[in-house]
Amino acid sequence: MQNRRNFIRRAAAMAAILGLDPARLFRASDEPQKNESLRNDPLFAGGHIISTWEGGLVANAEAWKTIAGGGYAIDAVEAGVRVIEADAEGGSVGIGGMPDRTGRVTLDTCIMDHTGNAGGVCFMEDIVHPISVARKVMDETPHVLLAGSGARDFAISQGFQTRDLTTPKSRAAYEKWLETQQYKPIINIENHDTIGLLAQDMEGRLSGACTTSGLAFKLRGRVGDSPIIGSGLYVDNEVGGATATGLGEAVMRTVGSFLVVELMRGGLSPQAACEEAVNRIVARMPVDQLQVGYLAMDNKGHAGAFAIHPGFNYARTLAGQTDLIDAAHAIE
Ligand code: ASP
Repeated sequence: MQNRRNFIRRAAAMAAILGLDPARLFRASDEPQKNESLRNDPLFAGGHIISTWEGGLVANAEAWKTIAGGGYAIDAVEAGVRVIEADAEGGSVGIGGMPDRTGRVTLDTCIMDHTGNAGGVCFMEDIVHPISVARKVMDETPHVLLAGSGARDFAISQGFQTRDLTTPKSRAAYEKWLETQQYKPIINIENHDTIGLLAQDMEGRLSGACTTSGLAFKLRGRVGDSPIIGSGLYVDNEVGGATATGLGEAVMRTVGSFLVVELMRGGLSPQAACEEAVNRIVARMPVDQLQVGYLAMDNKGHAGAFAIHPGFNYARTLAGQTDLIDAAHAIE
């Protein structure tokens, strides 16, 4: 009860700051017909966002504007990750993303809503906001995933502008890489800004978004887990959502995000589900140089995260208050 009271106090303060009617913030929990199981959980009151890495702090802040305003989770997740895609300083998403070994930036992205609708693009070039192209694939086509030049053509047909996504910083990193041409992804470094973001709105709707330029200096044509529904991202409104970061090949081999959600369906908490999914990777393949982190939320306001190695963290926003949290890990 104390939790609930604290939540209401924090949410009311946040509503005042945002100039909102506090009643809007409590809509999901105050309307008994909406969802009894959510309403009965003392922790749940809607308004929950989690996202990978420190960059998630600004992504969550943007996503929270939509959630606090009573908007849809799907709009919140898209708005949140767009901030990271537009950041030219980040090394792994959108502008300034690390190129492949031919010097070109290729993008992998997907989005999924509370009804199970999903869209994605992979191996797409020249578009600053692949998440919004993925949203168009979801909303405007009968398909789930478009690739390469087809995805780019589709984006242009939808009014997206093209531009060179390399920056002086990413071009310099590529020039340096050419000196040795060694392909050796560095744990927690080259993937640092890939963002997976999950949100639950005030009506209890869950959605997720995942967007990256993938591994630095990958083979041309390589597609990772991030645009693959079930691997980089999965959402089921009856249960929860999960997203992944790290070496996509390991996530794809274990269909990681789907696995986490299904483990939650079977009764595990988000934390226990992330741990089990990581442990399966650890049990099946050498992980000395392999980092994977999972992040998950259920539909009752609980979150969890777990990684193979130290260094993975995530931003969590609950009732408008955001914390950066270090994930626990399997190996010291
Ligand atoms: N999972 C991404 C990939 O393999 C990279 C990352 O999330 O760090 O492309």
